[in-house]
Amino acid sequence: MTIKDPALFYGPAREVDTGMTTEKVTRALFDEVMVPNYNPQQMVPVRGEGSRVWDQDNNEYIDFAGGIAVNALGHCHPELVSVLKEQADQLWHLSNVFTNEPALRLAKKLTDATFADKVFFCNSGAEANEAAFKLARKYSYDNFGPEKNEIISFKQGFHGRTLFTVSVGGQPKYREGFEPAPEAITHAEFNNLDSLKALISDKTCAVVLEPTQGEGGVLPGTEAFLKGVRELCDQHNALLVFDEVQTGVGRTGYLYAYMASGVIPDVLTTAKSLGGGFPIGAMLCSDKVAPSLGFGTHGSTYGGNPLACAVAEKVLDIINQPEVLEGVNAKNAIFVEELNKLNERFGIFKEVRGSGLLIGTELIEQWHGKAGEFLAAAREQGLMMLVAGPNVIRFAPSLIIPDEDIRTGMAKLGAAIAQVLENAEG
Ligand SMILES: *Cc1c(COP(=O)(O)O)cnc(C)c1O
Repeated sequence: MTIKDPALFYGPAREVDTGMTTEKVTRALFDEVMVPNYNPQQMVPVRGEGSRVWDQDNNEYIDFAGGIAVNALGHCHPELVSVLKEQADQLWHLSNVFTNEPALRLAKKLTDATFADKVFFCNSGAEANEAAFKLARKYSYDNFGPEKNEIISFKQGFHGRTLFTVSVGGQPKYREGFEPAPEAITHAEFNNLDSLKALISDKTCAVVLEPTQGEGGVLPGTEAFLKGVRELCDQHNALLVFDEVQTGVGRTGYLYAYMASGVIPDVLTTAKSLGGGFPIGAMLCSDKVAPSLGFGTHGSTYGGNPLACAVAEKVLDIINQPEVLEGVNAKNAIFVEELNKLNERFGIFKEVRGSGLLIGTELIEQWHGKAGEFLAAAREQGLMMLVAGPNVIRFAPSLIIPDEDIRTGMAKLGAAIAQVLENAEG
């Protein structure tokens, strides 16, 4: 069927004063038609390949941001493109009234590769956490009664933007104005066992943490802390939930960050890198707790859809290989070396931290609050990077970023820092 007159289907096109017709849209249009909850950079990317991105004016960027720790295999990885196209010709969606082959294969691979026995699929990190927190409450309700319902998480932690996840998250600014929030949630100090001890009790149903706090400033949990949290959970029959939405799927040089410390959670959430840029999230859990999400207790229309699962299966196949994971650690060494060199030149970093390709550099006090200035200057030099709060510059590039792109990006970062310092003096 040919559609002769699109207006018959969509109604007459509305005039917008950017002069926009169907062919060209610009950044200016964003402010006109989008809710202002984001403030994207002043250019519009249109194409990506590996760790390089091009905007509407064909300016080239090195990508140290990876779509906020999502594009774990860079942009348009040929094997991901091919598996997505193949699946697009097969089957897109069925709902959970039916299961499908890609979802079953992905669940099998995730359970084979981790502590988990069971998987629940959804579409984002927040949804994976929502499932985890609901499961924690339900498991305690089923096994210990309704009084055991308290969730303890950590200050500066980040778990997503739904009302439950901003409530468990440790940054009050994300829930301010949205109250009343879900109750029985308290926040301890990260890497401080005494602070957790003061809050935990037999009424605690779960302790929730990121093995390395990502958005909160790239702060790794120490091994002693993680072990101590596990012990306290065991003493109080509380579930341990690891939010590995950012740290998972190779990001820290291990398939999942819990594998570095040997501390095994009861529930783990994963998203971001899992889909390599295609939306998917998953909650993984042990057979002990899975029965509490019995038939009809929870669900998601799109969860486990064949397109997302086919892509994620390929992502997992590629990343869960020793060469790729070792490569992440080798690339970490280049990042750290280059950042230290920049610091010898400029002296603006207080500390370089993180592991694998989740790296944060905290600025010295004098530059606190100004991480965003470096981000904007880097973009002008043709480099995409991230912040983690106002004081920390964050890098979360493709796990297979070519070494040459790391060095090229670092030269751009050097130019950007020089520019910011010059502006500050001038
Ligand atoms: C990004 C992130 C989330 C939220 O994921 P969405 O896909 O944006 O919902 C949750 N937890 C952590 C640790 C994250 O980094």
